[in-house]
Amino acid sequence: MTIEIERYDAMREPSSAVLSYKLPDGDMTLLQALEYIKTKIDPTLSFDKGCRSGICGSCAMRVNDREVLACNYKPVDGDKVSPLRYHEVQRDLIVDKSAARQTLRKSRSWLHGYNGAAVAIAQEKITEVQSDCILCDSCYSACPVLAVNPDFLGPFALTRVYRYSADVREGDAKPMIDAVQQSGVWDCTLCGECTAVCPQGIDPKMDITMLRSTSAQHGYMDPNFSAMSFGFGGF
Ligand code: SF4
Ligand code: SF4
Repeated sequence: MTIEIERYDAMREPSSAVLSYKLPDGDMTLLQALEYIKTKIDPTLSFDKGCRSGICGSCAMRVNDREVLACNYKPVDGDKVSPLRYHEVQRDLIVDKSAARQTLRKSRSWLHGYNGAAVAIAQEKITEVQSDCILCDSCYSACPVLAVNPDFLGPFALTRVYRYSADVREGDAKPMIDAVQQSGVWDCTLCGECTAVCPQGIDPKMDITMLRSTSAQHGYMDPNFSAMSFGFGGF
């Protein structure tokens, strides 16, 4: 089996290249394949890894333009491996996630007005899956809106806003809801790409839909809808 890897090194000339690597026969994950290449073929190959069991989210990357965790994915002949989109590539498959992390700060996705309420098991279940986010950034990389609007808050931040806004202990969700009106809930096209790639089974598209309802309860409406002309001008 042969796979291709998009390589990048600012110190190299040329800095970018797509290189092919032959792998031994046998069952292996993409992470094991990358480790094989690094130890047996090219020690300069760079990639992130952590828990090796789909928990830490460190090894998120793209295969054939689809986000995967390398430790969860079994490569097939002809696969092309590349780094996550919309992140600065530091070297090969290693990206800098700090800029994407800023969306959590911008969206103010934390408890703002702790009201001391006890959380019943049924209430905990409402946001249980959203709490499983491992910040792998796969959804962020898959989102087509970020290609045209780099300021878009993106799926994982909006999922986290939903998680906290729906928390019974939150006594004042307004700061969060206010923070996601610009380049936030209304900019999502509800395409579902984020949901399709999430390794944790989280559905950011649905969370954003729920946040639109919460926004409406706070007096906001879709700015695209309010800007529409219905042909009543002049009457
Ligand atoms: S559903 Fe929205 S947030 Fe998710 S990928 Fe599509 S545009 Fe981005
Ligand atoms: S929502 Fe899913 S895909 Fe997005 S960062 Fe969290 S775990 Fe990763």
